[in-house]
Amino acid sequence: MAATSHTSTKPRGGVSTLAGRWPLLSQGRTLVAYVSVIVLLDLAAMVLFAASTTIRRHDVLTFAALMSCGAVCIEATRRLGMPAGVSRDLLSAWWLPVALLLPPLYALLAPILLQTLLQVRVRATVLHRRVLSSAAIGLAGGAASLTYQRLVPDPLMLSRGSGSAILFAVVAALVFALLNTGLVAVAAHTANPDSRWREVLWDRESALLDVVELCLGVIVAIACGLNLALLVLALPPVVLLQRSLLHAQLQAAARTDPKTGLLNAAAWQREADTEIVRARRTGETLALLIVDIDHFKRVNDAHGHLVGDQVLIGVAGMLRSQLRDYDVVGRFGGEEFVVLLPRADLQEARRVAERLRTRIGHMAVPVDEALITVTISAGVALMNVHGDDLIDLLAAADLALYRAKELGRNRVCIPAAPPRPRLPGETSA
Ligand code: GH3
Ligand code: MG
Ligand code: MG
Repeated sequence: MAATSHTSTKPRGGVSTLAGRWPLLSQGRTLVAYVSVIVLLDLAAMVLFAASTTIRRHDVLTFAALMSCGAVCIEATRRLGMPAGVSRDLLSAWWLPVALLLPPLYALLAPILLQTLLQVRVRATVLHRRVLSSAAIGLAGGAASLTYQRLVPDPLMLSRGSGSAILFAVVAALVFALLNTGLVAVAAHTANPDSRWREVLWDRESALLDVVELCLGVIVAIACGLNLALLVLALPPVVLLQRSLLHAQLQAAARTDPKTGLLNAAAWQREADTEIVRARRTGETLALLIVDIDHFKRVNDAHGHLVGDQVLIGVAGMLRSQLRDYDVVGRFGGEEFVVLLPRADLQEARRVAERLRTRIGHMAVPVDEALITVTISAGVALMNVHGDDLIDLLAAADLALYRAKELGRNRVCIPAAPPRPRLPGETSA
């Protein structure tokens, strides 16, 4: 299933992670209205189908078996924990068969059970996210179920190997994935109107997972239709896949600063070290920037920490959007960011830093009636000129930043003069 996301940024390496963004008040109201509409639609569909569905023993048994598999999957991965914000799972492997084999009412009910279990047993996330997830999956499942049952009169044709039934099952699974992604993407865009539609709708990793889920869901549906007992054979591989998926997400989360979605200090340092070794080997130029928001304390003092966080997120987003894919951007701590620019000479690095300064200076974060603007100061250092390793480069860029602050802020500086050459045997501080 598509994950609930309220915004996502991509740290270097294309790993999609959630920046724990909290929508501003006005966006919050629109989001609440949107979630309410989706939930009401979901409830209305449940009432409608409850009235017209005949409850059959075999349907209830199939539903219970598939939900039990989902519950086992959740319990088996619970100890691994969940990465903060967006996370993906393979639970569609269980609710897709519900949609294909049973009347639509069951597809509407299924996510309520498993999302409640996730909320209680795995992570108590913000309630509106959980409710939206559940309603979006329910509506998508209901639509997939209706589609499939319109196209295939007897759901058991799937397990008899009918080619058209398998094809239509794939069509229904696509309806499920597209609708779910669409419903969640509208919420993500409402929470963060600055995000591009392409960003919230399409992500290669996520699309690949959708395909895996689609395949799993159809195969489990076929097995389940053949004999419910086959679910016992389907369960272990799905659990294993789910565990490795979570493991990869936890690894990505460990590299990421949860507030801004940029690399955290330790991960940035590792990647920067790798780039420096590469630059040394190839003889290419490389520059480093330290960027610090000016008078950020005043923003917090005047508007509170939550608004301060929005500004941090805005600045981080601007840094990411203004840099090349292979530039390494991280949050060094507080309101300080670090950027490594492979293949940049001093002129290029200054140009980039000036562009960042101008863009961030023109950026406005809306808060209630007001617009908040901030400026940045930046220190630039060039490899082999201001330092030979990461520590030296950071120290030189920090000195330059200090000078920028002293000279009045909102400016870019380079170190005053290249440091004297090291004496033989001398090591860096
Ligand atoms: P300068 O121009 O000299 O850099 O002034 P400044 O106010 O930006 O710098 P100072 O170091 O005095 O204050 C930094 C402030 O950043 C203080 C701290 O509360 C705030 N800060 C650090 N991390 C966060 C965060 O994650 N969220 C918010 N809202 N504020 C933070
Ligand atoms: Mg500052
Ligand atoms: Mg600072």
